[in-house]
Amino acid sequence: MFTDSHAHLTCDPVYLDLQEILKRAQEKKVKTVINICTDKISLERGLKLAEECSWIYNVGATTPHDVEKEGGLYFPLFEEAARMGKLVAIGETGLDYHYEHSPQALQRTFLSRYFQLAASCRLPVVIHCRDAFKDLFSIAQNDFPKGRVLLHCFTGTMEEANKALEQGWMISMSGIVTFKRSDLLRAVAKEVPLNHLMIETDTPYLAPQSMRGKANEPSFISETAQMIADIKGIPLEEVAAMTTANAQNFFSLESGL
Ligand SMILES: [Zn+2]
Repeated sequence: MFTDSHAHLTCDPVYLDLQEILKRAQEKKVKTVINICTDKISLERGLKLAEECSWIYNVGATTPHDVEKEGGLYFPLFEEAARMGKLVAIGETGLDYHYEHSPQALQRTFLSRYFQLAASCRLPVVIHCRDAFKDLFSIAQNDFPKGRVLLHCFTGTMEEANKALEQGWMISMSGIVTFKRSDLLRAVAKEVPLNHLMIETDTPYLAPQSMRGKANEPSFISETAQMIADIKGIPLEEVAAMTTANAQNFFSLESGL
């Protein structure tokens, strides 16, 4: 049974065939999906979806890309949802200095605000970080020193992974680890202990190697799991069970579903 630790099921444009996608996920033994809400509409749809499907959980925040346009506007919505116990984590928040769609200083401000919100609600935080680990580590040290952190869609170096692991953080691997040219990332995945690892699709983005070019969906998660199993030389079932247990712990989900 797999857990997809990061999917955007309720983002725009709307999936006309969401019910089919969910059905295929269940057929492929996906037992839990963590749905990432990044704005008002995806949050509203996400909360409704979670009411209908007990195996889907929501996480919410404005992404670092969008904080300039939407950060101030939507912060109160995510704050309200968090305080009402409707989110299992805050995120994806973080820093993206690679694309820099929003000014770096503003990204840092919102990352701080979201860390503080998570701390006050005792929630973990899902982080998007690209080319900004130095600042991420220093802000986390200040605003979220003992908090639970998941680095989603990790594409950093071994050194960055080690620094995260030293702080007890979790690392999630996406379909990128299956791409032909991802040898360096596979080397990192091999070293990250299984009890610190999760897997994700980042649906609808980043379909795994055999599905490249298609819209990703949770039913494709097994290809990433199989790659991790191959890299580590362990059975697929062990990867599925451990990454699921890790997600249950991290997001405080009910187990034994
Ligand atoms: Zn995402």
